[in-house]
Amino acid sequence: MDSNITTSINNNIQQKFPLFGINKVRELTRLVFEISKRENVSPCEIINSIQEKNYEKVKNILLQRRYPKTYSGAKKEKFYLPDLSLTDEQANISLEKFNPKKVYYTNEVTDSALYKRIRNLYPNANFVEIESLKSFLKKEKFSVGKYNNRRENLFLVNEKYDFFKPCPCTKNVRCCNYSILNIGYGCLYECSYCFLQGYQNVAGIILPCNLPDFLNREKIKPIDNKMFFLPRVGSGEFTDSLIFDDITLFSNDIVKFFKENKDISFEFKTKSVNIDNLLKLGGSENIVVSWSVNAEQMIKENEHCTPGLEERLKAAQKCVKSGYSVGFHFDPVILYKDWQNGYKKTIEKIFDFIDGKYIKWISIGSLRMVANLKKIIENRFLDNKILDEELLLSHDNKLRYENNTRVRIYKYLVDLIKKQDSSVVVYLCMENVDVWNKVYK
Ligand code: SF4
Ligand code: SF4
Repeated sequence: MDSNITTSINNNIQQKFPLFGINKVRELTRLVFEISKRENVSPCEIINSIQEKNYEKVKNILLQRRYPKTYSGAKKEKFYLPDLSLTDEQANISLEKFNPKKVYYTNEVTDSALYKRIRNLYPNANFVEIESLKSFLKKEKFSVGKYNNRRENLFLVNEKYDFFKPCPCTKNVRCCNYSILNIGYGCLYECSYCFLQGYQNVAGIILPCNLPDFLNREKIKPIDNKMFFLPRVGSGEFTDSLIFDDITLFSNDIVKFFKENKDISFEFKTKSVNIDNLLKLGGSENIVVSWSVNAEQMIKENEHCTPGLEERLKAAQKCVKSGYSVGFHFDPVILYKDWQNGYKKTIEKIFDFIDGKYIKWISIGSLRMVANLKKIIENRFLDNKILDEELLLSHDNKLRYENNTRVRIYKYLVDLIKKQDSSVVVYLCMENVDVWNKVYK
């Protein structure tokens, strides 16, 4: 596939159906593109195979072909068909050591330990003082095309409001009452499904320099919950929890604080193996280092620049030896041809490496995304396969596999995990009560 494909499909449809208006052509272009990609058939072949002339009939033929499993059961508005506008703004999937060319900082951070460390670590970077991140962003307009440049720019600021908050979760799902400690914004990895590509509005990595100010019981107020042994707090919502830990050394303050506050469980959620500082510090049972895991084929195809499954599991093993608890997140579970086998192998590998008694929890969440991320993914990862499955619009304007498929995925994974160790807590992330009830009935 190349980015000129849009014009070519568009022209072919216009030629075949000269009476169709621009919006109709746009929708059919989207459908032909997706079918062609899914089936590896040329767009011309698809267009030429249509014998109908009536727009609704043509659209239904294409919808049925594009969504063979869900077409008959889903309302038509559940099929998300945005216009197709491919660009050449592909993701940079080469792994480079983080070496920012520019470091932007506000005046208030210059006495902080992190600012001084960054000065020493990157003496050749251009250090630029800014009034505030907000005023900087007003002047420097961001576009998705600049997302690749995030590895070149580092912002050092004081975080004032958003350090600690309840996990935003999503509408009408069974929330697990998680709370988030925000230790940064931006990531160096390139996971094809990453929500940050559509969410981030700054071409850089943002690190807060005042984390220690927030590590106190006045500010850290987690929500009680019955599902887990302790109320849970974790980092890793807007960044990977450990990817920058050799630079920030945030784990020094975090581990110290939670060793003194054992009535709270703290989770470092990561795909990295950047655990040297954690190992130096030594763990505690209430501190959980958790890894996002996936079927190995999905890691290879989608989690660009990240360590492989075995590397992650070896790191988990070291953390256990060092006194930490561990967790795993099957998130996102992605459907592909051999998904059952792929996820089974990953589950078996986890328990080959780690005794279940050290695993505090395993979560499962199927692939989901806000609808407008679809266009960003297909632009940045033109050859991705994750969008080829049947993702439908849900109540919260997110694209997901339909309910029965998700139930089938979860049941399969929960059963496999429970066969390995029935005492491990397994929960679903961002799932509605109906799905929960069907999985755990
Ligand atoms: S279910 Fe997932 S998204 Fe919802 S609160 Fe828990 S961790 Fe956050
Ligand atoms: S590790 Fe997480 S934050 Fe980083 S690119 Fe992947 S999904 Fe995004």
